[in-house]
Amino acid sequence: ASGLLALCRAGFEKEVAAELDDFAAGIGLMGFVRARPGSAFATFESHEPVAFADLAERCDWRTLIFARQLLPWFARVADLPERDRATPIATATRNAGQRFAQLMLETPDTDEAKQQSGFCRRFTVPLQHELERIGAFREGAKGLPELHILFPDPSTAWLCAALPGQAALWPMGIPRLRMLREAASRSTLKLAEAIFTLLTETERNASLRAGLRAVDLGAAPGGWTWQLAHRGLRVTAVDNGPMAPSVMATEMVEHVRADGFTWRPQRPVEWMVCDMVEQPTRIAALVADWIATGRCRRTIFNLKLPMKKRLEAVEQCRALITKRLAQAGPFELRFKHLYHDREEITGYLALRTAAV
Ligand code: SAM
Repeated sequence: ASGLLALCRAGFEKEVAAELDDFAAGIGLMGFVRARPGSAFATFESHEPVAFADLAERCDWRTLIFARQLLPWFARVADLPERDRATPIATATRNAGQRFAQLMLETPDTDEAKQQSGFCRRFTVPLQHELERIGAFREGAKGLPELHILFPDPSTAWLCAALPGQAALWPMGIPRLRMLREAASRSTLKLAEAIFTLLTETERNASLRAGLRAVDLGAAPGGWTWQLAHRGLRVTAVDNGPMAPSVMATEMVEHVRADGFTWRPQRPVEWMVCDMVEQPTRIAALVADWIATGRCRRTIFNLKLPMKKRLEAVEQCRALITKRLAQAGPFELRFKHLYHDREEITGYLALRTAAV
Protein backbone atom coordinates (compact mmCIF):
# COMPACT_ATOMS: atom_id res chain seq x y z
CA ALA A 1 0.00 0.00 0.00
CA SER A 2 1.06 3.58 -0.48
CA GLY A 3 -0.32 7.10 -0.61
CA LEU A 4 -0.04 10.49 1.01
CA LEU A 5 0.09 11.66 4.60
CA ALA A 6 -0.51 15.15 5.93
CA LEU A 7 0.01 16.56 9.43
CA CYS A 8 -2.24 19.36 10.70
CA ARG A 9 -3.36 21.13 13.84
CA ALA A 10 -5.70 18.90 15.88
CA GLY A 11 -9.28 19.74 14.92
CA PHE A 12 -8.46 20.48 11.28
CA GLU A 13 -8.46 16.86 10.04
CA LYS A 14 -11.60 17.34 7.99
CA GLU A 15 -10.12 20.29 6.11
CA VAL A 16 -6.79 18.62 5.44
CA ALA A 17 -8.53 15.39 4.38
CA ALA A 18 -10.65 17.27 1.84
CA GLU A 19 -7.55 18.99 0.48
CA LEU A 20 -5.68 15.67 0.35
CA ASP A 21 -8.53 14.09 -1.58
CA ASP A 22 -8.53 16.96 -4.10
CA PHE A 23 -4.77 16.92 -4.42
CA ALA A 24 -4.70 13.16 -5.05
CA ALA A 25 -7.45 13.42 -7.67
CA GLY A 26 -5.54 16.27 -9.30
CA ILE A 27 -2.48 14.09 -9.83
CA GLY A 28 -4.61 11.21 -11.09
CA LEU A 29 -4.70 8.95 -8.02
CA MET A 30 -7.72 6.87 -7.08
CA GLY A 31 -8.16 5.91 -3.46
CA PHE A 32 -9.64 6.97 -0.14
CA VAL A 33 -8.83 9.32 2.74
CA ARG A 34 -8.82 8.57 6.44
CA ALA A 35 -8.83 11.21 9.15
CA ARG A 36 -9.85 10.46 12.72
CA PRO A 37 -11.13 13.67 14.36
CA GLY A 38 -8.59 15.03 16.83
CA SER A 39 -5.73 12.86 15.53
CA ALA A 40 -3.84 15.78 13.91
CA PHE A 41 -3.15 13.91 10.69
CA ALA A 42 -4.89 12.50 7.63
CA THR A 43 -3.89 9.87 5.11
CA PHE A 44 -4.77 9.06 1.53
CA GLU A 45 -4.41 5.46 0.44
CA SER A 46 -4.10 4.73 -3.25
CA HIS A 47 -6.02 1.75 -4.69
CA GLU A 48 -3.06 1.00 -6.94
CA PRO A 49 0.61 1.05 -6.01
CA VAL A 50 2.27 4.34 -6.98
CA ALA A 51 5.91 4.82 -7.87
CA PHE A 52 7.59 6.85 -5.17
CA ALA A 53 9.54 8.96 -7.68
CA ASP A 54 6.35 10.11 -9.45
CA LEU A 55 4.64 11.03 -6.23
CA ALA A 56 7.55 12.65 -4.43
CA GLU A 57 8.25 15.13 -7.23
CA ARG A 58 4.73 16.50 -6.97
CA CYS A 59 4.42 16.45 -3.20
CA ASP A 60 5.28 20.00 -2.22
CA TRP A 61 4.00 20.58 1.31
CA ARG A 62 3.22 24.22 0.47
CA THR A 63 0.39 23.10 -1.82
CA LEU A 64 -2.10 22.28 0.94
CA ILE A 65 -3.36 25.10 3.13
CA PHE A 66 -4.06 23.04 6.23
CA ALA A 67 -1.03 20.74 6.08
CA ARG A 68 1.97 21.41 8.29
CA GLN A 69 3.67 18.58 6.48
CA LEU A 70 2.85 16.58 3.35
CA LEU A 71 4.62 13.31 2.60
CA PRO A 72 4.27 10.30 0.32
CA TRP A 73 4.05 7.16 2.46
CA PHE A 74 5.16 3.73 1.29
CA ALA A 75 4.41 1.42 4.21
CA ARG A 76 2.30 1.25 7.34
CA VAL A 77 3.71 -1.08 9.96
CA ALA A 78 1.17 -2.07 12.60
CA ASP A 79 1.52 -4.25 15.71
CA LEU A 80 5.10 -3.16 16.38
CA PRO A 81 6.45 -5.25 19.25
CA GLU A 82 7.55 -3.09 22.17
CA ARG A 83 10.89 -4.86 22.53
CA ASP A 84 12.01 -4.63 18.92
CA ARG A 85 10.48 -1.97 16.75
CA ALA A 86 13.62 -1.66 14.62
CA THR A 87 13.43 -5.01 12.81
CA PRO A 88 9.93 -4.66 11.27
CA ILE A 89 10.61 -1.04 10.31
CA ALA A 90 13.96 -1.93 8.74
CA THR A 91 12.37 -4.82 6.84
CA ALA A 92 9.60 -2.60 5.47
CA THR A 93 12.18 -0.01 4.44
CA ARG A 94 14.32 -2.61 2.67
CA ASN A 95 11.24 -4.02 0.90
CA ALA A 96 10.57 -0.56 -0.52
CA GLY A 97 13.92 -0.74 -2.32
CA GLN A 98 14.72 2.90 -1.59
CA ARG A 99 17.78 4.32 0.15
CA PHE A 100 17.65 7.39 2.37
CA ALA A 101 20.02 10.12 3.51
CA GLN A 102 18.20 11.55 6.53
CA LEU A 103 15.99 10.14 9.24
CA MET A 104 13.26 11.97 11.15
CA LEU A 105 11.01 10.31 13.74
CA GLU A 106 7.86 12.28 14.45
CA THR A 107 4.45 12.12 16.09
CA PRO A 108 1.23 13.96 15.29
CA ASP A 109 0.75 17.09 17.41
CA THR A 110 -1.64 15.73 20.06
CA ASP A 111 -1.01 15.26 23.79
CA GLU A 112 -1.56 11.54 23.42
CA ALA A 113 0.79 11.05 20.46
CA LYS A 114 3.45 13.33 21.91
CA GLN A 115 3.98 10.80 24.69
CA GLN A 116 6.09 9.04 22.08
CA SER A 117 8.43 12.04 21.70
CA GLY A 118 10.97 10.69 24.18
CA PHE A 119 10.95 7.32 22.49
CA CYS A 120 11.42 9.00 19.09
CA ARG A 121 14.53 10.80 20.37
CA ARG A 122 16.05 7.67 21.91
CA PHE A 123 15.21 5.46 18.95
CA THR A 124 16.63 7.63 16.14
CA VAL A 125 20.30 6.62 16.42
CA PRO A 126 19.77 2.87 16.92
CA LEU A 127 17.29 2.77 14.03
CA GLN A 128 19.68 4.67 11.79
CA HIS A 129 22.41 2.12 12.59
CA GLU A 130 20.08 -0.72 11.72
CA LEU A 131 19.11 0.95 8.43
CA GLU A 132 22.79 1.51 7.60
CA ARG A 133 23.56 -2.12 8.37
CA ILE A 134 20.99 -3.35 5.86
CA GLY A 135 22.13 -0.86 3.23
CA ALA A 136 19.02 1.36 3.28
CA PHE A 137 20.70 4.48 4.66
CA ARG A 138 23.69 6.65 3.80
CA GLU A 139 23.89 9.70 5.98
CA GLY A 140 23.92 12.96 4.02
CA ALA A 141 24.20 11.30 0.57
CA LYS A 142 23.28 13.91 -2.07
CA GLY A 143 19.95 13.52 -3.89
CA LEU A 144 18.60 10.70 -1.73
CA PRO A 145 15.23 11.27 -0.05
CA GLU A 146 14.57 11.79 3.65
CA LEU A 147 12.88 9.04 5.63
CA HIS A 148 10.15 10.36 7.94
CA ILE A 149 8.53 7.90 10.32
CA LEU A 150 5.35 8.93 12.04
CA PHE A 151 4.26 7.21 15.27
CA PRO A 152 0.61 8.03 16.03
CA ASP A 153 0.75 5.42 18.82
CA PRO A 154 3.45 3.14 20.23
CA SER A 155 2.67 0.20 17.95
CA THR A 156 2.06 1.89 14.59
CA ALA A 157 4.55 3.48 12.21
CA TRP A 158 3.86 5.23 8.91
CA LEU A 159 6.96 5.17 6.72
CA CYS A 160 7.16 8.24 4.52
CA ALA A 161 9.70 9.60 2.09
CA ALA A 162 10.35 13.14 0.93
CA LEU A 163 12.65 14.68 -1.63
CA PRO A 164 14.91 17.39 -0.24
CA GLY A 165 13.17 20.74 -0.45
CA GLN A 166 9.68 19.25 -0.90
CA ALA A 167 8.87 18.69 2.78
CA ALA A 168 8.63 21.13 5.67
CA LEU A 169 12.05 21.45 7.26
CA TRP A 170 10.91 21.15 10.84
CA PRO A 171 10.08 17.95 12.73
CA MET A 172 6.28 17.59 12.92
CA GLY A 173 6.07 20.65 10.68
CA ILE A 174 6.52 22.81 13.76
CA PRO A 175 8.99 25.70 13.48
CA ARG A 176 10.55 26.32 16.87
CA LEU A 177 10.95 30.07 16.60
CA ARG A 178 12.09 32.11 19.56
CA MET A 179 10.80 35.53 20.35
CA LEU A 180 12.95 38.46 21.42
CA ARG A 181 11.53 40.45 24.33
CA GLU A 182 11.43 43.74 22.42
CA ALA A 183 9.20 42.14 19.75
CA ALA A 184 6.18 43.12 21.89
CA SER A 185 3.74 40.26 21.25
CA ARG A 186 3.76 36.58 20.43
CA SER A 187 2.07 37.25 17.13
CA THR A 188 5.47 38.44 15.96
CA LEU A 189 6.28 34.74 15.49
CA LYS A 190 3.35 34.40 13.13
CA LEU A 191 4.74 36.98 10.73
CA ALA A 192 8.22 35.46 11.04
CA GLU A 193 6.79 32.05 10.14
CA ALA A 194 4.72 33.54 7.31
CA ILE A 195 7.75 35.25 5.78
CA PHE A 196 9.66 32.00 5.88
CA THR A 197 6.84 29.76 4.69
CA LEU A 198 4.92 31.83 2.17
CA LEU A 199 7.79 33.60 0.38
CA THR A 200 10.58 32.13 -1.70
CA GLU A 201 14.14 33.05 -0.81
CA THR A 202 14.31 35.34 -3.86
CA GLU A 203 11.12 37.11 -2.80
CA ARG A 204 12.42 37.52 0.74
CA ASN A 205 15.70 39.00 -0.44
CA ALA A 206 13.99 41.38 -2.85
CA SER A 207 11.28 42.65 -0.55
CA LEU A 208 12.64 42.66 2.99
CA ARG A 209 15.46 45.11 2.54
CA ALA A 210 16.52 48.17 4.46
CA GLY A 211 15.07 51.32 2.99
CA LEU A 212 11.78 49.84 1.79
CA ARG A 213 8.47 50.95 3.25
CA ALA A 214 5.67 49.02 4.90
CA VAL A 215 2.25 49.66 6.37
CA ASP A 216 0.89 47.54 9.24
CA LEU A 217 -2.91 47.71 9.60
CA GLY A 218 -4.08 46.74 13.09
CA ALA A 219 -0.50 47.01 14.32
CA ALA A 220 -0.78 47.30 18.11
CA PRO A 221 1.08 46.36 20.24
CA GLY A 222 3.57 45.90 17.42
CA GLY A 223 4.81 42.33 16.98
CA TRP A 224 4.38 42.39 13.19
CA THR A 225 5.71 45.94 12.93
CA TRP A 226 8.79 44.87 14.83
CA GLN A 227 9.46 42.00 12.35
CA LEU A 228 9.58 44.53 9.54
CA ALA A 229 11.40 47.30 11.44
CA HIS A 230 14.13 45.00 12.60
CA ARG A 231 14.76 44.04 8.96
CA GLY A 232 15.34 47.71 8.25
CA LEU A 233 11.97 48.65 6.75
CA ARG A 234 10.27 51.92 7.66
CA VAL A 235 6.83 51.07 8.99
CA THR A 236 3.62 53.07 9.30
CA ALA A 237 1.71 51.37 12.11
CA VAL A 238 -2.03 52.02 11.87
CA ASP A 239 -4.03 51.31 15.02
CA ASN A 240 -6.11 53.24 17.52
CA GLY A 241 -4.50 51.20 20.28
CA PRO A 242 -1.10 51.88 21.86
CA MET A 243 2.18 50.61 20.40
CA ALA A 244 4.75 49.01 22.69
CA PRO A 245 7.61 51.40 23.64
CA SER A 246 10.19 48.77 22.62
CA VAL A 247 8.81 48.81 19.06
CA MET A 248 8.71 52.59 18.85
CA ALA A 249 12.29 52.64 20.18
CA THR A 250 13.52 51.11 16.91
CA GLU A 251 12.91 54.63 15.49
CA MET A 252 11.73 52.95 12.28
CA VAL A 253 8.05 53.30 13.11
CA GLU A 254 5.46 56.00 12.68
CA HIS A 255 2.26 55.36 14.66
CA VAL A 256 -0.95 56.59 13.02
CA ARG A 257 -4.19 56.45 14.99
CA ALA A 258 -6.74 55.75 12.26
CA ASP A 259 -9.18 53.21 10.89
CA GLY A 260 -7.26 50.55 8.98
CA PHE A 261 -10.09 50.04 6.53
CA THR A 262 -10.14 53.59 5.23
CA TRP A 263 -6.57 54.85 5.77
CA ARG A 264 -4.39 54.89 2.63
CA PRO A 265 -0.74 55.89 2.12
CA GLN A 266 0.18 58.92 0.02
CA ARG A 267 2.82 57.02 -1.90
CA PRO A 268 2.99 53.32 -2.87
CA VAL A 269 4.79 51.04 -0.41
CA GLU A 270 6.45 47.64 -0.80
CA TRP A 271 4.44 45.91 1.93
CA MET A 272 1.07 46.12 3.55
CA VAL A 273 0.49 43.64 6.36
CA CYS A 274 -2.83 43.25 8.10
CA ASP A 275 -3.73 41.50 11.35
CA MET A 276 -7.08 43.15 12.10
CA VAL A 277 -9.57 40.64 13.45
CA GLU A 278 -12.57 41.09 11.19
CA GLN A 279 -14.85 39.26 8.76
CA PRO A 280 -12.52 37.37 6.36
CA THR A 281 -14.31 38.69 3.26
CA ARG A 282 -13.79 42.26 4.49
CA ILE A 283 -10.05 41.66 4.88
CA ALA A 284 -9.85 39.91 1.50
CA ALA A 285 -11.58 42.87 -0.17
CA LEU A 286 -9.22 45.29 1.56
CA VAL A 287 -5.97 43.55 0.58
CA ALA A 288 -7.19 43.03 -3.00
CA ASP A 289 -7.99 46.75 -3.23
CA TRP A 290 -4.50 47.74 -2.02
CA ILE A 291 -2.90 45.49 -4.66
CA ALA A 292 -5.31 46.41 -7.47
CA THR A 293 -4.77 50.12 -6.94
CA GLY A 294 -0.99 49.75 -6.63
CA ARG A 295 -0.81 51.04 -3.05
CA CYS A 296 1.44 48.15 -2.09
CA ARG A 297 3.37 45.56 -4.09
CA ARG A 298 2.81 42.72 -1.65
CA THR A 299 0.71 41.87 1.32
CA ILE A 300 0.61 39.33 4.12
CA PHE A 301 -2.69 39.10 5.98
CA ASN A 302 -4.69 36.98 8.37
CA LEU A 303 -8.11 35.56 7.65
CA LYS A 304 -10.14 34.55 10.68
CA LEU A 305 -12.00 31.34 9.93
CA PRO A 306 -15.51 30.38 10.95
CA MET A 307 -15.92 27.24 13.11
CA LYS A 308 -17.69 25.45 10.29
CA LYS A 309 -17.26 25.44 6.52
CA ARG A 310 -13.72 26.72 6.79
CA LEU A 311 -12.66 25.64 3.30
CA GLU A 312 -15.72 27.31 1.84
CA ALA A 313 -14.80 30.53 3.63
CA VAL A 314 -11.30 30.38 2.16
CA GLU A 315 -12.65 29.76 -1.33
CA GLN A 316 -15.05 32.66 -0.95
CA CYS A 317 -12.11 34.95 -0.16
CA ARG A 318 -10.07 33.53 -3.03
CA ALA A 319 -12.94 34.17 -5.45
CA LEU A 320 -13.38 37.70 -4.19
CA ILE A 321 -9.67 38.49 -4.63
CA THR A 322 -9.59 36.87 -8.07
CA LYS A 323 -12.53 38.94 -9.20
CA ARG A 324 -11.08 42.21 -7.90
CA LEU A 325 -7.74 41.53 -9.62
CA ALA A 326 -9.19 40.34 -12.94
CA GLN A 327 -8.03 43.50 -14.73
CA ALA A 328 -4.78 43.90 -12.82
CA GLY A 329 -2.90 40.95 -14.32
CA PRO A 330 -1.73 37.56 -13.08
CA PHE A 331 -1.07 37.30 -9.34
CA GLU A 332 0.33 35.02 -6.67
CA LEU A 333 -2.11 34.09 -3.91
CA ARG A 334 -0.87 31.63 -1.29
CA PHE A 335 -2.56 30.52 1.91
CA LYS A 336 -1.22 28.53 4.80
CA HIS A 337 -2.55 27.47 8.18
CA LEU A 338 0.67 28.23 10.03
CA TYR A 339 1.78 26.58 13.25
CA HIS A 340 1.27 29.96 14.96
CA ASP A 341 -2.25 30.27 13.52
CA ARG A 342 -5.21 28.98 15.49
CA GLU A 343 -8.64 29.69 14.05
CA GLU A 344 -7.17 31.66 11.16
CA ILE A 345 -5.00 31.25 8.12
CA THR A 346 -2.33 33.53 6.71
CA GLY A 347 -2.24 34.73 3.11
CA TYR A 348 0.30 36.26 0.73
CA LEU A 349 -0.81 38.25 -2.29
CA ALA A 350 1.25 40.00 -4.98
CA LEU A 351 1.03 40.68 -8.68
CA ARG A 352 3.34 38.44 -10.71
CA THR A 353 5.18 41.51 -11.93
CA ALA A 354 6.24 42.03 -8.33
CA ALA A 355 7.33 38.42 -7.91
CA VAL A 356 10.99 39.39 -7.50
N1 SAM B 1 -0.19 42.10 14.70
C1 SAM B 1 -0.26 42.71 16.03
C2 SAM B 1 1.02 42.37 16.76
O1 SAM B 1 1.80 41.57 16.26
O2 SAM B 1 1.25 42.95 17.82
C3 SAM B 1 -1.49 42.25 16.79
C4 SAM B 1 -2.75 42.78 16.18
S1 SAM B 1 -4.22 42.45 17.10
C5 SAM B 1 -4.54 40.79 16.75
C6 SAM B 1 -5.44 43.29 16.21
C7 SAM B 1 -5.33 44.80 16.25
O3 SAM B 1 -6.16 45.33 15.25
C8 SAM B 1 -5.78 45.43 17.55
O4 SAM B 1 -4.72 46.18 18.11
C9 SAM B 1 -6.93 46.37 17.14
O5 SAM B 1 -6.90 47.60 17.81
C10 SAM B 1 -6.66 46.57 15.69
N2 SAM B 1 -7.85 46.89 14.87
C11 SAM B 1 -9.03 46.24 14.80
N3 SAM B 1 -9.86 46.87 13.93
C12 SAM B 1 -9.17 47.94 13.46
C13 SAM B 1 -9.48 48.98 12.54
N4 SAM B 1 -10.66 49.04 11.93
N5 SAM B 1 -8.53 49.91 12.29
C14 SAM B 1 -7.32 49.87 12.90
N6 SAM B 1 -6.99 48.90 13.78
C15 SAM B 1 -7.89 47.95 14.05
